[in-house]
Amino acid sequence: MVAYQVMGKTRIKDPAMCPHCFRTAAGHESIIKNFGLRNMDDGTTRVQSWCRDCRKRITGGNVQ
Ligand SMILES: [Zn+2]
Repeated sequence: MVAYQVMGKTRIKDPAMCPHCFRTAAGHESIIKNFGLRNMDDGTTRVQSWCRDCRKRITGGNVQ
């Protein structure tokens, strides 16, 4: 089951799953550590869709 926990304008999908390597993370701490968050144009904050490792591979290490 996927739940969206809304804290102000932050929406955290829990658990999160990377569509690239299928890594999952459950719980805010683990999600933020393994995936990170990003600010959307509409002012909300969401979980990154790809995990940090996959983004690192694509961007060559420039992960925010
Ligand atoms: Zn991944």
